Amino acid sequence: MDSIKERLENVKDRIKKAAEACNRNPLTIRLVAVSKTVPADRVREAIEAGVKNLGENYVQEAREKINSLTDFPVNWHFIGHLQTNKAKYAVRLFDLIHSVDSLKLSRELNKQAQKNGKIQQILIQVNISREETKSGISVDEAINLVDEISHLENLSIKGLMTMPPYFNQPERVRPFFSALRELSDQIKEKAIPNMSMDELSMGMTGDFEAAIEEGATMVRVGTAIFGERK
Ligand SMILES: *Cc1c(COP(=O)(O)O)cnc(C)c1O
Repeated sequence: MDSIKERLENVKDRIKKAAEACNRNPLTIRLVAVSKTVPADRVREAIEAGVKNLGENYVQEAREKINSLTDFPVNWHFIGHLQTNKAKYAVRLFDLIHSVDSLKLSRELNKQAQKNGKIQQILIQVNISREETKSGISVDEAINLVDEISHLENLSIKGLMTMPPYFNQPERVRPFFSALRELSDQIKEKAIPNMSMDELSMGMTGDFEAAIEEGATMVRVGTAIFGERK
């Protein structure tokens, strides 16, 4: 099997090619290496190979890893479902929380951010495929949620995130990526104060090239860097 370094180079190369194919600057696309279930020593290997952004799904698991890797200047992203009772820890640990999808969670994050003297950067997770089992705010409610969160002083909205169905079938996922971008454009038109819509977090191992073509500014890639999860 290839080393993490080789796999990382391969992913970066694919990002660059996908960006160039649609006339985008590859530097405008951030690679978030998804390290859920990956032990700290392998995460360290990835950081030493050049990873700057790491994504974790579980607060408890992330806490141990982050605390054992504090000597590295990397950004930590929370990409999993966040329970309100974990908001306190999430605010302490993460630079960007991708998965905010309710006012209740936002209020708790805001309160915790206030306590920590922090402006917490967040993305709004949208259930663009309207699957009942998925987390994320519905498309119809998204603008309203953004508007309400924009009044919370210790939260700063940076954009949208989605997790569509049909893993590893890029052409079936593509319409969901373009729908997220369209929603982002609609929200921009509302010119809501105190928020920005610059980031689109979409695309994983099986479909990140399509996501880049549809405007992703952050791709969340696990398997292609760390190998299959157990
Ligand atoms: C696990 C996970 C990823 C990465 O998936 P891969 O297919 O391994 O690249 C991306 N985003 C979220 C929200 C995840 O849970």
